Amino acid sequence: MFTNASTERGIYKLNSTNLIQNSPIGGEGNVAIPIPTGNQKYEMIAHTHNAPSESTYSVFSYADLLAMYTLLRKDKIDLDKFVAFLSTADGTNYAFTINNPTQFLKVFATIFDAGFDYTVGLNRVQMREKYYTGNIDNHTEPLIKENSVDNIYDEKLFLDFLKATNMGLTLFEVNDTFDRFERVTHNTRTDTIDKNNCN
Ligand SMILES: [Zn+2]
Repeated sequence: MFTNASTERGIYKLNSTNLIQNSPIGGEGNVAIPIPTGNQKYEMIAHTHNAPSESTYSVFSYADLLAMYTLLRKDKIDLDKFVAFLSTADGTNYAFTINNPTQFLKVFATIFDAGFDYTVGLNRVQMREKYYTGNIDNHTEPLIKENSVDNIYDEKLFLDFLKATNMGLTLFEVNDTFDRFERVTHNTRTDTIDKNNCN
């Protein structure tokens, strides 16, 4: 899905129309996610991580998750239908659903939000550092790297991140034609990815 382009591409579907619409491209060539007006909610959001593959994640970025949180917090996601898709220049296709919206909101809640829990918030900050940003002061590098060429390793790390934060999301591998979904989990005992066919 256009992953060899030099900028990201995105499409989305709102509950108010059958049209699949193109996402606007914001700064730095990244997809922007407009906040729908009125009672409109997202049923589907898909975007690419564009070429070159050395400079993009093969999995969802932290910013991707934060963007979905922002939409959910504004009640702009149709939870009965919502799927977020990702296609990357690394050749990976993923989707996630929000299986526990209360938990997803709690993980990203700030001190001003009703669902804020200090322990959960602190853990999210620490896991963000561990998996996505590293810490300059402590000279630690993030585990998930844009220039990684090992997609399976990245997938395991992303699943570990979801588990470590108790994010409330379910991850799927999707085939190139986007009609076969396999729910994936990281089996840490065997260090393999377990797949459950969902069709
Ligand atoms: Zn992304």
